Parts: sequence; structure tokens; C-alpha cells
Amino acid sequence: MEPAPGEIHAPPADFAALRRQDPELAGVLLAELDRQSTCLQLIAGENFTSPAVLAALGSPLANKYAEGYPGHRHHAGCELVDLAERLAVERACALFGAEHANVQPYSGSSAVLAAYAALLVPGDTVLATALPHGGHLTHGSRSNFSGRWFGFVGYGTDPDTGLIDYDQVRDLARAHRPKAIVCGSISHPRHPDYAAFREIADEVGAYLIADAAHTLGLVAGGAAPNPVPYADVVCATTHKTLRGPRGGLILCGEHLAGRVDRAVFPFSQGGPHMHSVAAKAAAFGEAAGPAFAAYAHQVVANARLLARTLAGEGLDVLTGGTDTHLIAADVSPLGLGGVRARGRCAAAGIVLDKYAPPYAARTDDSCAGIRLGTAAITTQGMRETEMPQVAALIGRALREERGVVADVNGLVRRFPPYPAVTTGA
Ligand SMILES: *Cc1c(COP(=O)(O)O)cnc(C)c1O
Repeated sequence: MEPAPGEIHAPPADFAALRRQDPELAGVLLAELDRQSTCLQLIAGENFTSPAVLAALGSPLANKYAEGYPGHRHHAGCELVDLAERLAVERACALFGAEHANVQPYSGSSAVLAAYAALLVPGDTVLATALPHGGHLTHGSRSNFSGRWFGFVGYGTDPDTGLIDYDQVRDLARAHRPKAIVCGSISHPRHPDYAAFREIADEVGAYLIADAAHTLGLVAGGAAPNPVPYADVVCATTHKTLRGPRGGLILCGEHLAGRVDRAVFPFSQGGPHMHSVAAKAAAFGEAAGPAFAAYAHQVVANARLLARTLAGEGLDVLTGGTDTHLIAADVSPLGLGGVRARGRCAAAGIVLDKYAPPYAARTDDSCAGIRLGTAAITTQGMRETEMPQVAALIGRALREERGVVADVNGLVRRFPPYPAVTTGA
């Protein structure tokens, strides 16, 4: 059965045994379950996985060493985990129309590292979103391998529209002749123009790497444009909008398959996490169904309405809205900084991130904004009816009104992510 959007998810874990054996740890897990079930989960990159994904993660595949690829492993006894990995690869290729998929990256960052390793050598020039404009750490941060090993040049967004300035991207590409161009962001709420990026990459002879870590789930559900036809390599996470286990994914054409596979193993990783690979297969299976398409479209509809209603609360929503699950907003019109805004929301049981809008006025805080997303609350079953309530709760929390925690709990308890848990209490 496909989980419908809003269908109640129940984890398969029976906490009773753990509670008997290790009450200290069981207490932590149950408290976290309670936190996830009573607070508003608005971290943009988070979601609630399905029972099938959790079952695979909690399976004995966690015990298996399987260095290598199906049919070519360094270890014995891999016949069955081979089947799981083949399923994950076939489903990923079918879901995104890709010729090749590597499902072994431990995380989104590992996938980006492998993509660079497949296409670049240290010292190469790479053009990517500048970090203050939404680039990820792996897009050239000096504290990350990317900024240490490659020469990153950053493109930005237009100060008036907040949108990517493609003229600037083209000018920088012509001036710096990068070996690769990276598109994709942690906070930009609009889709990259993949065709425009492809054209610029072709003009300067660069590879195009799409880091679709946030949006690939929306692509699977037909609610976002697919980068696969345009990019040489697509990197993603499997735990954000894709709603699978924590992990990474790489998609590419057949001609790059060998380079990508060798860049993952043995170049940058050891044995794959086969329980996670199996959980990715489960997630890709779910994402192929009509219920997931309905979910992905609902995520975007929710985010659009939430962005509009947050603007009504006095926040300055970047780019005036969103095309995705992501909302980035400047809270300085309310006389707040992002750290204080995040703290006031947290005190009210609303979990979201601080964020530094690229052109915001300086505040006494380290940043002027917040970043949030609708992937998790949509999995819980919230729809357009609830979005004005969510915006109002955020507005009240930011104004430090009384009684917001109780109202947040009241709303969230109507949409339990994991109601059927056996706690052994
Ligand atoms: C989340 C994200 C990553 C990293 O994923 P991890 O699983 O946290 O390593 C990389 N790139 C972008 C654009 C992301 O949003």
C-alpha cells in the first residue's frame, strides 16, 4: 500500500524490549519521538519516513559488509544484499529517467564529494552558488574539502528580485572557464533554470553538476523540473523531500557510470550501508506511486500558502514566495534577528532554522532571517486549511505572545506522525 499524503505512519520498532534492556537509551528515543510528535517540524531538510523505510533501516542488512557493487563484491555472502541494491538502482533510474544510479553515498555531502572526484582534479576551478546566496558547504566553503581542494568562484542572486542572475553566471563562466558549474542551493526557493545552466556550461566546455539535495523528492512526484536531462551528474539526498533514509544518491549518463562508481567506492567510501541502501529502494518504490505525486504537489501548495500568510504576519519573504517546499524570510521588519526569531519559535514548540538573507540590513543578531519548509508537516497530513494557522502561530511566537505552546501542541497532536508506537510503558 502506498502511504497517502497525510496517511498516518507508524514505526515498526517495538520500544518495549529496548526499554527493558536499556531504559536510559530507550528514554532518550521515546523523548525524541515525543518531541517529533508534539512540536511543529519546519526544518526544511527534514521529513517523516514511512514504516517500510524504518523497517529496512532496522533490518539485519545493517550487519552486512558489501564493499564493491552487485556481482563484484570484495566479501562473500552478498547475493541477497545484491538484490536489494539492484532494486534500489533500477527504481532510481526509472523514477528519474536516468541511465545510471549510484545509491551508496552515505549522505548528500558524500554524493557531492564523489561527483567532484569523478569529474575534477584538485586545483580545478568550479563555479557554484556563493555561500551567502544559498550555496551548501560543499559548494566551496573554506572549512570544507570543497573550498580547500578546488578553486571556487561564486555566483549570486539579484538584489532586487532575489533570483539567480544568469547574466552574471555567464560572465563569470566566460571569465574563469570553470571545469564544472554547480547549480542547487540550501535556501533558494526557486528552481534553477537547468536549460540556461546547460547552455552556459556548453559555451565554456564545463560539466554541469546539479545538487538537487532538497528538491529531488518534488521531482519524483512531478512537482519540480527534472535536472537529469540537463546535468552531467545529479547529486541528491534521500532524506529531504524524497522521504527516505538519511543518505545520498548520484544519477548520471552511462558514459560517466564507471567514473562515478569508482569515485564513490573505493575512492571516497568503504563498505556501503546496505540497510540504508534497502531503505532507499523502499523510498524509491513509494515515490513512484500516485500518492507520492499528490504529496509532492501538496508540499508545494502548502509552502506557497504558508509563504503568503507569513508575509501577512509582517515577514519579508525572499523572492516573494516559493516554487518548492522551502521558504526563506527576513524577520528584521519585526525588529528581530534570525537567532532570536529561531529561539522564540523554539520556545513555542516551533522548530525552524535561522538564516542570513544575502542583502538584509545588519541586525544585532548574526543574521536577519529564518528558513523553513513544509515537507514534514505535509507528510503529517496538514493541508491548505492548516497553513494560515501555522503562519499565525509563528507570528504569535515571534511576538512572544502567551499560550502559543499549547496551541502548537493542540494543532500537531491532530496530525500524529507515529501514533501506533508500542512504548512498553
Ligand atoms: C542537504 C544538502 C547537502 C548535504 O546533505 P547531507 O546529507 O547533510 O550531507 C548538500 N547539498 C545541498 C544543496 C543540500 O541542501
